[in-house]
Amino acid sequence: MTQRIRVAEGLLRSVPDPGQLVLPKDGEQNILITSALPYCNNVPHLGNIIGSTLSADVYSRRCAGTRNRRTLYICGTDEYGTATETRALKEGISPRQLCDKYYELHRETYEWFDIGFDYFGRTSTPLHTEISQEIYLNLKKDDNLVRQEKEQTYCEDEQNRFLADRFVEGICPHCNSDDARGDQCDTCGRTLDAVELINPRCILDKTHKVVTRISAHMYVRLDKIQPQTENWIKESWRKGKWSPNSVINSEGVLIDARLKSGLRPSPVTRDLKWGVPVPVADDDPDQEMKEKVFCEWSFEAPIGYVSITANLTPEWKQWWFNPKNVHLYQFMGKDNVYFHTIYFPSVQIGDGRDWSTLHHLSTTEYLNYEGGKFSKSHNRGVFGPDAKETGIPPSVWRYYLLSTRPETADATFSWDDCVAANNNILLNNFGNFVNRALKFVSSYYGGTIPEGDTPGPLSPNDEIDSEFVADVNGLLKDYTEAMDAVKLRLGLQTVMLISQRGNLYLQSSGLNKALMNENLDTLRAIDILSGHHIGTPEYLFTKIEEKKADVWRAQFSGNDSAAATPGANETHAISGTSKRKAAAAKKSAPNPAKEQVGEVDGPKSAEALALDSKIVEQGGLVRELKARTPRTKELEEETAVAIAELKKLKAERAALSK
Ligand SMILES: [Zn+2]
Ligand SMILES: [Zn+2]
Repeated sequence: MTQRIRVAEGLLRSVPDPGQLVLPKDGEQNILITSALPYCNNVPHLGNIIGSTLSADVYSRRCAGTRNRRTLYICGTDEYGTATETRALKEGISPRQLCDKYYELHRETYEWFDIGFDYFGRTSTPLHTEISQEIYLNLKKDDNLVRQEKEQTYCEDEQNRFLADRFVEGICPHCNSDDARGDQCDTCGRTLDAVELINPRCILDKTHKVVTRISAHMYVRLDKIQPQTENWIKESWRKGKWSPNSVINSEGVLIDARLKSGLRPSPVTRDLKWGVPVPVADDDPDQEMKEKVFCEWSFEAPIGYVSITANLTPEWKQWWFNPKNVHLYQFMGKDNVYFHTIYFPSVQIGDGRDWSTLHHLSTTEYLNYEGGKFSKSHNRGVFGPDAKETGIPPSVWRYYLLSTRPETADATFSWDDCVAANNNILLNNFGNFVNRALKFVSSYYGGTIPEGDTPGPLSPNDEIDSEFVADVNGLLKDYTEAMDAVKLRLGLQTVMLISQRGNLYLQSSGLNKALMNENLDTLRAIDILSGHHIGTPEYLFTKIEEKKADVWRAQFSGNDSAAATPGANETHAISGTSKRKAAAAKKSAPNPAKEQVGEVDGPKSAEALALDSKIVEQGGLVRELKARTPRTKELEEETAVAIAELKKLKAERAALSK
């Protein structure tokens, strides 16, 4: 067994210290790893952690620690954009203050989870601006940008400010509801463009005068670059062994709907303040771009991987312009596939330089929480800093999350499973094996690991030994294959099979019995060869009382009373349309008590108050969902369900007032 496996915290740690600068070497397979940049206006939940940072961390430790490859793992917070600006407005602080606050929260959370980034940076840096602007100018130089005009809402009471959709409210042109927002009407559920609103208002101040003006923007010509992008995908998916995803299937056929119908020019600029300013030369005909910034997610966020590396080392180009020697591995949730396989590679192609491009992408499906969804607005589920409060050690969290990694389908977090994983697998199987093996070395070899051919304390049992060696070698082969294919969950399962096999060996060889029998001390007449000294063996894991699962389940069930009711979470579930329909049917069934209250006039009834507070809460959820990017099909669907629920609540409330 020459392989070394780092599974639990503190074991075989051979990863370079953070900050120890690693640069690629010519002729070697150098590994550059990124995990999706978390958005800087919220704390990550467990699904985000397993989907990107923890998975990338495990793979990075394997490359550096057990494969001895030059490896660099980069991540950081994505800080610009409308969502930050509106969130800062809500919290009454500047976008910079907001980002400082959430950057710290993210950093602390990942540190607690023992995520070993080589560098965890952020996008709001001067180098990020410089590199983004350079790419923009290269696109422009090669005629890969095009100017297009669009009608947009504009506030005349601020210094020449175009209003992002989320900064405008008004009357819905479809249903006349008075509280439609710039991007959609919560009452009728239709998607809107802010310029369609009747009597638009500025959310900063109702008395501001809002008008419509033409705003020009620059678009990257994905349509022009498409043939090269398609060639790149067709070459890359086989080399990088991409698993089938939303862009390409297992036969290598491009299945992305956008590619099939033809990519369109995609906006690169926006009318916002908090972002990277668009560079405009004095002789540039597009002088109006001076007032604008780059689109956050669709243009400058993926550049964050590059600029964060540049903030770590001035030698960053050795990683990012070195396709011959650098293999780029990118970890992300499934909703980010388009941006990493089509969008950003197109920008790199359009930029024209010799970029290191995506080699292998590792995506995960969604992690659900106890049969529902994680929801920050409902305080439902475990969010970064909560994990620490439970007293469960980070290594147990890491194990449980990796063992449920949504590798091929959506997976579910459950407290019962989490406790069982600790007690049955980590403690009884893995921890037990490690402890027995260490005790054995401690008792019989004075704590110093002997050479492989040192005679054991009992008479040799060649048959049992050779069978054991063959089995473990077979399992190690499986492990290596799984890890090379970035199937981390499968790799971890195999590790547990190895320790299970080890326990069996200790039993069947009689070594376990020998360990229990203090009288066998006399057997220490044997030679002890020099080697590593192991110190005092300690237990790696402790038992968690099963009843704690109930305590935690209640603690993290959320502040939404509806969430405690069975069936109430279906509206947030990702899958199961029929479940949703059933829940909707249940909710729309006549409620005699409600009808009675509805006839009461005068002061607000308890029911009306409860509905009012639910409407406020649901409105918050809708806004949160609308603010999320990128807009995937799943997210649109989920948003539509939340809007339908809000509409229903409003209808119920209206019925009460009649
Ligand atoms: Zn409407
Ligand atoms: Zn205004």
